[in-house]
Amino acid sequence: MERILNYINGELIEPHSKEYLENIEPAKGLVYGEIPNSSALDVADAVVAAEEAFHGWANTTRKERSSVMLKIADLIDRNLEKLALAESKDNGKPLKLARQVDIPRASANFRFFATAILHESSELHESDEEAINMTLRSPIGVVGCISPWNLPLYLFTWKIAPALAAGNTVVAKPSEITPMTAFLLSALCMEAGLPKGVLNIVHGLGPQVGQAMSEHPKIKAISFTGGTQTGKQIAATAAPMFKKLSLELGGKNPNIIFADCDFEKALKTTVHSSFANQGQICLCGSRIFVERAIYEQFRDQFVEQVSKLRVGDPKDESTQVGAVVSSAHMAKILDYIDLAKEEGGKLLCGGERVVLDGEHANGYFIQPTVFEGLAFDCRTNQEEIFGPVVTLTPFDNQEEVIQMANSTAYGLSATIWTSNLHQATRMSKALQAGIVWVNTWLYRDLRTPFGGMKNSGMGREGGWDALGFFTEKKNVCIKL
Ligand code: NDP
Repeated sequence: MERILNYINGELIEPHSKEYLENIEPAKGLVYGEIPNSSALDVADAVVAAEEAFHGWANTTRKERSSVMLKIADLIDRNLEKLALAESKDNGKPLKLARQVDIPRASANFRFFATAILHESSELHESDEEAINMTLRSPIGVVGCISPWNLPLYLFTWKIAPALAAGNTVVAKPSEITPMTAFLLSALCMEAGLPKGVLNIVHGLGPQVGQAMSEHPKIKAISFTGGTQTGKQIAATAAPMFKKLSLELGGKNPNIIFADCDFEKALKTTVHSSFANQGQICLCGSRIFVERAIYEQFRDQFVEQVSKLRVGDPKDESTQVGAVVSSAHMAKILDYIDLAKEEGGKLLCGGERVVLDGEHANGYFIQPTVFEGLAFDCRTNQEEIFGPVVTLTPFDNQEEVIQMANSTAYGLSATIWTSNLHQATRMSKALQAGIVWVNTWLYRDLRTPFGGMKNSGMGREGGWDALGFFTEKKNVCIKL
């Protein structure tokens, strides 16, 4: 049994309750570790530690903060294999994906914000009546970061890194479903010499630990990534306390393929954007709209390629689709597959749980699944499934596809495939999405604003947006 511990005030410690939750390996369906079942008491300890550390950390020079964060980034790189193995075991994702994407991105997050603060400038307005106005930025204080299970270390560090770089101290909670790499990060922070109390990681259940963080009056801002319902709950608790909130929530992203696209590229990338990480990336395109002139050709080749995707042991180098994250999540996805059938969808491939041999016989594997023939406004096409299930829908013109694409409550990302620049521009403007990719998917430049519209969230992460969120602006007016 691998027991993990909270990281509070620079030490690895047990929760007050001395109780532990089970940590399950999704590819085997077996308990392999224990997670602290922390409570509001542990959150309170973490806040005290963070408050005590704040003055010292906020008053370090940018260079000092940058230097310790760069050490953490180096240590993540040095421990790439160990972290990738842990991430794959904890989450069910292919080891190859963890090694190539999740862990490198975690160190990139630290490196990006550690160096960004060295290049920051602030504003100065020369006013007409012989005055100058300076804009000062200062850290907020103790801030809370809450992250989900789909890209565990990737998203955890995406929040922590800008918060620390801006001079805040942090109380953070990873998802209790995938806590392992956050725990391993605690040890790396200690090794890097991060001063005690600057980062505190409290493990446990969302409704206990996460809720206690939202309620704590001394946590002045919450940066949250997760489901829309949880985001609502956090906003309901934190907004009346006037906490700053950044909410990155769910999505139901359209992937729009015009007849004039580079067909091979669109096809290959669409297979990837549908099923990467078992479809459990908030940016996966789950509603694929294809212009009627190429609909049948695209459908047939898409289904052929999807049927060949290898579902299997995440550690196997040839595996393309690993296990979904939990038994409950597998049940939810299978329920949506039943719903799609009830709603009249035609199953083109997949649709079943995969039972592997040997030690993976109880793992949570699902075949990559494709439906067609569903109305754009049915539940399958409106609700977030967050698994390896996509739908294909033909369209005749821009107006029609814009209407269908914008019909959901979400507005996170959209992908457009076309070689017509006017079409790409018009569509990009018309789509209700915080991120639009044209002829690519998941191309991320960390300087760009990241976030969603409508029920996909509030605020933007990335670049100066993240550093802006984690600081307070102050206007100082000097009469000359
Ligand atoms: P959840 O909303 O269930 O959980 C996210 C985090 O919030 C977890 O750490 C969870 O804890 C915690 N939490 C749960 N309840 C509360 C509460 N009452 N107060 C405070 N915190 C709480 O999301 P999932 O982990 O299931 O992640 C999947 C969702 O995340 C999908 O909807 C997906 O679209 C979205 N997502 C959005 C992204 C974006 O950038 N917009 C990126 C990635 C995912 P615990 O798990 O320990 O109970």
